[in-house]
Amino acid sequence: MPKKHQPFKFETRALQSTKNIINEVHAINPPIYLSSTFVRNKEGKYEDRYKYSRNDNPNRRTLEKSISTLENGTTGFAFGSGMAAISAVFQSLKTGDHVILPDDAYFNLKLLLKDIFNRWGLSYSFVNMSNIETISRSLNQQTRLIWIESPSNPQLKISDIRGICELAHAHQILIAVDNTWPTPVLQNPLDLGADIVVHSSTKYLGGHSDVLGGCIVLKESGSLAHRIQSIQVQMGAIPSPFDCWLISRGIQTLYLRITKQTDNAQKLAEWLNGQPRVNRVLYPGLKDHPHHAIATQQMKGGFGGMLSLLIDGNEIETRAVANKLQLFTQATSLGGIESLVEHRKSVEGSESQTPSNLLRLSLGIEHIEDLIVDWEQALR
Ligand SMILES: *Cc1c(COP(=O)(O)O)cnc(C)c1O
Repeated sequence: MPKKHQPFKFETRALQSTKNIINEVHAINPPIYLSSTFVRNKEGKYEDRYKYSRNDNPNRRTLEKSISTLENGTTGFAFGSGMAAISAVFQSLKTGDHVILPDDAYFNLKLLLKDIFNRWGLSYSFVNMSNIETISRSLNQQTRLIWIESPSNPQLKISDIRGICELAHAHQILIAVDNTWPTPVLQNPLDLGADIVVHSSTKYLGGHSDVLGGCIVLKESGSLAHRIQSIQVQMGAIPSPFDCWLISRGIQTLYLRITKQTDNAQKLAEWLNGQPRVNRVLYPGLKDHPHHAIATQQMKGGFGGMLSLLIDGNEIETRAVANKLQLFTQATSLGGIESLVEHRKSVEGSESQTPSNLLRLSLGIEHIEDLIVDWEQALR
């Protein structure tokens, strides 16, 4: 037995001296709880809700509460990437269920269905989501879910979210909306009737191109919430506490960033529209966009920071324009503070239906005049 006041040896002191004292610190920002597990008291009980970080973690809880508040939902779930969040929605279905997706769905979502959920026995139809008649004709007895992306990637098509929700609910079908592009600043699908919202937090929520993440927000907190939660916890595709902290920090400036990025996109779209070397600008904020009226009804305060354009030329000429741009970096992804440009077809691969003269832009927070000057010289 050690004597009563004998000091601990070095390795013991190394642990004792670094124990959590964070509850005693009144910092303006939350600490990052890099703890995989939490203390049980003498009765074997936990003092609070935290047991083990796959189940729950304070940084994840903060993020989940934040995103569910901003989307006007009841429950939020954070995942390690947008694709993990999207997968969890499909994992909540069962063999034999049928889902309806947009024919221009986010490219990896198409691969997810074809490569993985096809083998799990989900059937699916890719339809034109801008046409409610077409959606209605694609329903069958097994249809359980309709997936919406509006504006869509990369063609910026608009779906009538309220109209599709009315159709779906008449048939007890769930509606999921990927709200990554508009963000809750510009669109709240749950208020328009949707049941599920998903995000790739990698994009605007994080906002700085330095973290991957995804989340799900639900309108209800009943059986679907329990199923999603068990998928999150049992399958374990969870984000790290640090990633949750980064995304929460991003959300603090989301409104300012998206407002500026939307303003930049609207102004650049208007400038590009009518340039001789530009065939078409795809942006729902333009009056000549085929679904400008619906976009105006269901979006608030603007049409987002993403736009695509069709260059008057072939793939080589289109890529040459991208190569001349100096303030737009060529990279996949979007929603960061820096402007990006991407030749989408070459990223999507051989099965891509994206036109070979399409460039997709993610507007950053630079000054609009500098961005327009850059385009002026690139199109010369
Ligand atoms: C990027 C993106 C995803 C995938 O998210 P990851 O975080 O890359 O897994 C899903 N949907 C949309 C609309 C996206 O832009």
